[in-house]
Amino acid sequence: MAKRSCIFCGAPGPLTREHVIPLWLQHYVGGSEKGSLRGTHMSWIGVPLSERVASGNSHTLGSVCSSCNNGWMSRLESGFRALLPRLQADISPRCFSKAERYTIAAWITKTGVVAHRSANYRSILPASLPRALSQGSSIPAGIKVIAGKVEAGKTIQWAQSNLGFGLVRKSHLPFYDAKQTFVFVLSIADVFLGFGWHGLSNRMFEIFHSGDSTHQIYPHPKLARHIRKFDHLAIAPTEIGLRSKDI
Ligand SMILES: [Zn+2]
Repeated sequence: MAKRSCIFCGAPGPLTREHVIPLWLQHYVGGSEKGSLRGTHMSWIGVPLSERVASGNSHTLGSVCSSCNNGWMSRLESGFRALLPRLQADISPRCFSKAERYTIAAWITKTGVVAHRSANYRSILPASLPRALSQGSSIPAGIKVIAGKVEAGKTIQWAQSNLGFGLVRKSHLPFYDAKQTFVFVLSIADVFLGFGWHGLSNRMFEIFHSGDSTHQIYPHPKLARHIRKFDHLAIAPTEIGLRSKDI
């Protein structure tokens, strides 16, 4: 059996348990009781995880080393934690400096990676993506981060999937594989953050953000045309797709 190592830096250990939803955030929204957290893999049938696994402490990932956990990840958590009240007051990227938008983007990417790796689901994301995050927490090229509003109670929800649509040139079709795409969205009360990623050729493909109803936070700030509140978080990923670069 392969020896487990830290998914971020590759160190053999000591390994610690990393919460998908950090404890501070569970407390921020009112505790970690069952039902307050809900993770979903969106597929064509979109089955949510059961209530049993939806309590805060059961969503953990055991392959993060203590130096990542107590080092860059801990700094990233405090950085994001300080920004969250302002995000909840106004998610417009205009309200945040470049460095602050970077912190928000790194945090949602980190959280998506941990959620993805902790889930009982086939892994899409290659090892290079978490590695890049641990090296000075740099966000891998091609990732786009968005922010929006959603109807929600006092809960945290997240959902992950492959990208649902693509605008792909016919000549690029042989190089296109939906399984090499990933989208993650996470809501904290009535705001959500999300990102799109692809593992295809960066020369041919790019993540496309429609910008109709959501702001772009990273890499460049871009205001939504008409910000609107989504009824369900599961609809939010439709704001992100994949397209050929020259379309
Ligand atoms: Zn590590």
